[in-house]
Amino acid sequence: MGKIVRALSADGSVLCSAIDSTDIANEIFRLHNTAPVATAALGRLASAGSIMGAMLKSEDDRLTLRMNGNGPAGNIIVTADYMGNVKCYADNVNVDLPLKPNGKLDVSGYVGTDGFLGVIKDLGLKEPYATQVPIVSGEIAEDITSYYAISEQIPTVCALGVLVDRDLTVKCAGGFLIQLVPPINEKAIDVIENNIKTMQSVTELMSQGKTPDKIALMGLAGLGGEVLDSWECKYYCNCSRERTAQILLSLGRDELKKLADEPEDTEVCCHFCNKRYRFTPDELKRLLISGDGNNAEK
Ligand SMILES: [Zn+2]
Repeated sequence: MGKIVRALSADGSVLCSAIDSTDIANEIFRLHNTAPVATAALGRLASAGSIMGAMLKSEDDRLTLRMNGNGPAGNIIVTADYMGNVKCYADNVNVDLPLKPNGKLDVSGYVGTDGFLGVIKDLGLKEPYATQVPIVSGEIAEDITSYYAISEQIPTVCALGVLVDRDLTVKCAGGFLIQLVPPINEKAIDVIENNIKTMQSVTELMSQGKTPDKIALMGLAGLGGEVLDSWECKYYCNCSRERTAQILLSLGRDELKKLADEPEDTEVCCHFCNKRYRFTPDELKRLLISGDGNNAEK
């Protein structure tokens, strides 16, 4: 289980959300068999998505992050619900890149730096709220910060980290997001900037056994921060046979008929969890008939 913690400064002007996403990043590795750099990139974006998802207001709200920097990763997609449960995938997870000169995984080399970070919030309205900002570093945390500065005009600091072990599993993963709540307390900005300068990286802190509670309070040091709430979150895919059938129907009648006329079964694989759903030609034909029924009702 992952854990999200939210802490608030004494005057209520600064919110810090921190996550321990070690289990989520390990699930990403287990489900997608990711190469280390892909584990790091997906783990970082999923950690950010989880924290951002947890800021949604209603149970049915969904947040999607889409990054494409024209790097070898292709698209990286993360979807989160309002509890911070996440699922994700990348077009290409089997990429081997040399380490950077500082010995770190080359996440920006994997993501690419020539492209966009898109944020889509489905708040149950007719159209989802969608916006995108240019990728600034491809290291993901800076890109999330830039999104908040440009699109939401909220001063934000974001730090993310994934430490991949020798056996390719994840030793620890996590992150935090500090945001100023309007009206902006200018003095708090200086305090936070100083906190960030003196804090070690997220994975260093976690390797020392620091919990997300502790990390959230470190971000608010000098501001009288207190933990507001905390809860568990996880990697969660909500795919099902029924949803997959709906996706097949959305291909359109002609396309579905073509598949139904093939002698072989049609297999659909969920991008997010790699579960496979198999449909026989007869099942597809029945789907065509029931799909007609649905259309007739409209
Ligand atoms: Zn799935």
